[in-house]
Amino acid sequence: MKKFPAEEFEGEKLREKLKDLVEMIPTKGDNIKVNEDKCGGCRLCFKHCPGGCFEIIDGKAKYTYPELCFECGACVILCPTGAIDWNYPEGGTGVVLRYS
Ligand code: SF4
Ligand code: SF4
Repeated sequence: MKKFPAEEFEGEKLREKLKDLVEMIPTKGDNIKVNEDKCGGCRLCFKHCPGGCFEIIDGKAKYTYPELCFECGACVILCPTGAIDWNYPEGGTGVVLRYS
């Protein structure tokens, strides 16, 4: 069976694929934050975020690319240590998809 190149759909390579499909209406605050004291560096948010919004730096997750957040909630659901504080952005702000 052919091996699926998962690394093509993570981090910077994923962001490159998405950049022309997504526009972010700037939010007024940080609706997603990582509590570094709670982060165990498991990489689940980095591997499964469909927008490639996280990087792992010095063993901790950083929410570094909020402009590609689809507001799916996967990061907060998957995080095993409760390190991610997650809220929807204010109405009228956040992600706009350009699929058509
Ligand atoms: S809500 Fe979804 S798209 Fe946004 S940072 Fe979390 S996993 Fe990524
Ligand atoms: S899923 Fe949670 S514990 Fe794992 S790297 Fe992300 S923020 Fe840290």
